[in-house]
Amino acid sequence: MPTPRHEIVRRIREGRTFLVAAHASPDGDALGSTAAMGFVLEALGKTFTLLNDSPVPPQYGWMELPGPLLAAPASDDYDLAIVLDCGDAPRLGRLRDILDPARMAVIDHHLGNPGFGAVNWVSPGHCATGEMVALLAKDLGVPLTGPLAEALYTAMATDTGFFSFSGTTATCMELGAELIRGGLDVGATGARIKNQWTVGRVRLWSEALGELSLRDHGQVGLIRVSQEMLKRAGAGPEDCEGLINNALRIKGVDAAILVRELPAGGLKFSLRSVGAVDIQAVAAAFGGGGHKNAAGGTLSLPLAEAEDVLAAAVAQAVEAVRGA
Ligand code: 5GP
Ligand code: MN
Repeated sequence: MPTPRHEIVRRIREGRTFLVAAHASPDGDALGSTAAMGFVLEALGKTFTLLNDSPVPPQYGWMELPGPLLAAPASDDYDLAIVLDCGDAPRLGRLRDILDPARMAVIDHHLGNPGFGAVNWVSPGHCATGEMVALLAKDLGVPLTGPLAEALYTAMATDTGFFSFSGTTATCMELGAELIRGGLDVGATGARIKNQWTVGRVRLWSEALGELSLRDHGQVGLIRVSQEMLKRAGAGPEDCEGLINNALRIKGVDAAILVRELPAGGLKFSLRSVGAVDIQAVAAAFGGGGHKNAAGGTLSLPLAEAEDVLAAAVAQAVEAVRGA
């Protein structure tokens, strides 16, 4: 019985035409993995289409892609759809109804991924989906250089908080070294990734952090972003990326919650924790998912009510480890 990783390598070697997709509203790992997988297929002389339910986010506009990022494939004539960084099928957005699960390889590192493709390489031990794509590139004999290296670095650096979160693996650091040996300019790539803030983001963060509240005797930090705040700041949802981490910087805070009101009502929530505090289980209890220390989901509740419900659940997770 071949492992899923070997089976995917075999299908890539033998296939001719591929689709490459990742989760909607792609982050650095989703977009970096998509680009990297495309560069690997390009190096192998394969035909491929890059897909996403959302366009390239403005802060990643600099990333070199091996082809345009389309909302839907031009034809149903393909051998394999490679789906990256999707913890479950709904994360694909509208592509979920377009891609054929019988011709799908899922490559992902989220806990609780049910495996919704024909081949599922789901491995939460990997710090980023980009790390898994890098390993596939090596299996397939594609050197980790040029724009492929930049895409892989973006994927791994953004999902590990620049190689500092607890999930950062030795493999990821070794791959990072290999990228540098292959000629990657870490300084220039890091600057491209980090120095993309809009003034709207600074205004939004300033208001949101000014109103940050503490719950559970200072063990839980809570940040709220309403539609009004976004409008006032001239910011978009992408400007909330990373905002939640500021709550964890406060001494004594073991878990953080960010709630962001959605334009059509309801909200998106993000959860973060440190060490043994498992907030993936909390997100899953509300229909979301993610990792032990970083998870999220959506709720159809008013902001204030959601804050109380989430704060109570997160406080329980913290107290299970730290005590009340
Ligand atoms: P973020 O809070 O940065 O949006 O997401 C943190 C983690 O939670 C990511 O690994 C992401 O995949 C996961 N996550 C965020 N939102 C959802 C969601 O609605 N459903 C699921 N299953 N996972 C999510
Ligand atoms: Mn990821």
